[in-house]
Amino acid sequence: MSELKLCQGSKCHTYFTKDRLKGTKGSKTYQTRRRSNLYYGNGNFCSFNCQHDWFQEFGDKAIDHFGRTTEPKHLTEENAWYKTLDWNSNDDRVYAYVNGITKEVISLTREQYRDNNYTLNER
Ligand SMILES: [Zn+2]
Repeated sequence: MSELKLCQGSKCHTYFTKDRLKGTKGSKTYQTRRRSNLYYGNGNFCSFNCQHDWFQEFGDKAIDHFGRTTEPKHLTEENAWYKTLDWNSNDDRVYAYVNGITKEVISLTREQYRDNNYTLNER
């Protein structure tokens, strides 16, 4: 049996759902959800609500701990390339690299389009 993960939501145990109510008569408690898989927040939360609760309580501290963005970041021409897929007038697939700033278009082969390591971006 795979190990169960506990939801990291700080209020998970306060939501009145049947699946959270555990124990025998006289000693029942609402408990934090345990699942083999959790599908929110990188597998740490049982629901968007629990993810949101956690962020409300700890988000500011987490951002300050890992470094708050204090100035705008810039995406320059050199790094503004994105892959796109279109159809030509013959209904053939056409693969291209488009620069989001200059709007320059460069044709790609299907292999280049599918290759996640192929990029024109400098970083
Ligand atoms: Zn939860």
